[in-house]
Amino acid sequence: MDQKYKGINTICTHAGELEDTEFKGAVSPLYMSTSYAFEDVPVKRYPRYFNTPNQVALAKKMAALEHGEASLIFGSGMAAVSTALLAFLHQGDHVVFQNTLYGGTSNLITEEFDKFGIEYSFTKDVKLSSFEAEIKENTKVIYIETPSNPLLTITDVEAIAKLAESKGLVSMIDNTFASPVNQNPLDMGIDVVIHSATKYMGGHSDILAGTVISSEVHIDTIFQMAKNLGGNLSDYTVWLLERSLKTMGLRVKAQNNNAMILAEYLYNHKKVTKVYYPGLVSHPDHEVAKKQMSGFGGMLSFELVEGINPDQFQKNLKLIKSSMSLAGVESTILSPAKTSHGLLSPEERAEQGIKDGLLRFSVGIEEAEELIEDIEQALA
Ligand SMILES: *Cc1c(COP(=O)(O)O)cnc(C)c1O
Repeated sequence: MDQKYKGINTICTHAGELEDTEFKGAVSPLYMSTSYAFEDVPVKRYPRYFNTPNQVALAKKMAALEHGEASLIFGSGMAAVSTALLAFLHQGDHVVFQNTLYGGTSNLITEEFDKFGIEYSFTKDVKLSSFEAEIKENTKVIYIETPSNPLLTITDVEAIAKLAESKGLVSMIDNTFASPVNQNPLDMGIDVVIHSATKYMGGHSDILAGTVISSEVHIDTIFQMAKNLGGNLSDYTVWLLERSLKTMGLRVKAQNNNAMILAEYLYNHKKVTKVYYPGLVSHPDHEVAKKQMSGFGGMLSFELVEGINPDQFQKNLKLIKSSMSLAGVESTILSPAKTSHGLLSPEERAEQGIKDGLLRFSVGIEEAEELIEDIEQALA
């Protein structure tokens, strides 16, 4: 880890940067080579070995951001999730998953794990006792996601890390929603941190990428699987992601601020029945969120009163775009029942507490007053 830089914005701007020794340019040079010398060199470099100059440099920035020893950069968040899980799980092993997970992660488990003979259980909720209840003789990994999508549930990260440690299990977290700006799970004892870098790390809705951050030992285990699966990110996109990360601290803090303002505005609105945001005192796990997060993030969800059609409301919005994905600098909104959770039956959605009228709001960096004006006119 690059210990020269301490504060988040300094790490974002400088950690891991490559020096342009030839021309003294201000930014990291981009090395696009897929072919490197093999004689008289300290390392044999190849993009799928995750060791080109730009990959190694960006991995240092990632490790610094999450206070880890080492990191790997992947071609997508799902490449990071699947490689990390498969690196630690063998045929006959069992893994405990949190009930509320990113849709792609749920699909990976339910569509693929049987093929590999990997057993799994989902918890009934995010309470510690619900994780304890699912641990078996052959359990090897506990996997959580907090805050979760789309209801922003909060899992007690430190409690899960302690539970995993006491049972000799590897603990993993999908830290995408919080971003490293708001939550650093390695500091709380988690073993492996995963991000879809497509979200807050990229931040401009134009990069697909993922990363895993952990100890040297665990990253080596993951690397052994990664070089065989081949999910590395191309160097050009690695370079773009480094550029995006320079402003991540500024962006995410602006999004935290806006989301808090918008959450309070919606909470007090007569036409809004429910707001899910960990920064609100009314959130059932606000205290846990306060303990483990330094900011509450830019994601929130809400429900409108019966009389208002959520589809019409989305169509009426002028500034806030109705759009899939999340975490860009622009505010976007979507209906989970029609997108991420569209394949579930209404009953299954109801079981997970996802009403058909639920709206998930990814708050951007626009002026909060203008976002409020937009919602006002759409509701009117
Ligand atoms: C988007 C997302 C992923 C998957 O990332 P991709 O980059 O789309 O592969 C995983 N976890 C969470 C929480 C996400 O939001």
